[in-house]
Amino acid sequence: MSRFLRKRYQDFEAYTPGEQPQDREYIKLNTNESPYPPAPGVVKALKETDMERLRLYPDPTGHRLKTKIAKLYGVNEENVFLSNGSDEILNFAFLAFTDDDETLLFPDITYSFYKVIAALHGINYREVPLADDMTIDVDAFCAEPANVVIPNPNAPTGLALGLDDIAKIAKANTDRIVLVDEAYVDFGAETSVPLIKEFDNVLVSQTFSKSRSFAGGRLGFAIGNASVIRDLEMIQYSTNPYNVNALSLILAEAAIDENGYYAANCKKIEATREQTEKALSALGATVLPSKANFIFAKVPGFAGEDIYRELKQRGILVRHWNQPRIADWVRITIGTPEQMDTLVATLKEIVEK
Ligand code: PMP
Repeated sequence: MSRFLRKRYQDFEAYTPGEQPQDREYIKLNTNESPYPPAPGVVKALKETDMERLRLYPDPTGHRLKTKIAKLYGVNEENVFLSNGSDEILNFAFLAFTDDDETLLFPDITYSFYKVIAALHGINYREVPLADDMTIDVDAFCAEPANVVIPNPNAPTGLALGLDDIAKIAKANTDRIVLVDEAYVDFGAETSVPLIKEFDNVLVSQTFSKSRSFAGGRLGFAIGNASVIRDLEMIQYSTNPYNVNALSLILAEAAIDENGYYAANCKKIEATREQTEKALSALGATVLPSKANFIFAKVPGFAGEDIYRELKQRGILVRHWNQPRIADWVRITIGTPEQMDTLVATLKEIVEK
């Protein structure tokens, strides 16, 4: 910390992203990336892109990509917002929507970035405890009018809510924003996009990072009521007008054209997830029923940190948190079937040691 830092940030704890080791090849099951490459059409689009384009600023409206996304999701261009990864949507939405006399609610066990952004912007937030079975306590999000952010499926549990529950939360908070973070929705959960027609307070955020093999390309998008999207754009133009770079716009357009390829990959990942759940249960592990591209599991007699460390020594990276209620658990990204076979065999070795 320098002596120049604003006082309000002096004790600030930044978000810690998952490890991205550059020194050694791991079986990388720690940050929920896709194990499959970008679609052939995306690779072709990159090869055919005239690098002269990089001399110019990108289209700040992202019109062409927005039109494609709108068509795919059955909404209009005015309902779509584009961002540099969906983390940026969270940041912009937190900046835009919680007044000083309001509260922002999110689950106590969830994406840890929410707490960090809320603290960064001095937002009053309250963490709503998950129920004993680790599901989101829907009624607690309906108890008093508040802004809400919930991931669906939740991370790191992988547990998903149905549309009726999201609608219930939206109805209980009609004068507040309900942000549904659907980073992992494509792996078997239900999207809340159809709800935006009924509820002007529902804002859905999604990403190309997981289901579209594009974590390095940094492309997120939000779908919501046109007036809410304009609010996000006001923040975007006042923060980073060219937030999505020219190459990502081009490649993301190609990715939308290849939707079938990515949908098939999601199905493969879901099948691998079911197999891995079974194999880990057979080893005595407890595994939550996930609708995401990761599973949350614990092995009796082992702390999450031990499993993490033992696996890392053997070349496999997973994620764990030394946090109340989840210290025994690890989050394991679903890789290829071969990678998951290696994971299961390695875990067996550790458990039987
Ligand atoms: N939401 C959740 C729940 C996530 O786990 C992540 C990935 N860390 C994100 C949003 C952001 O992903 P990205 O910025 O890559 O779109």
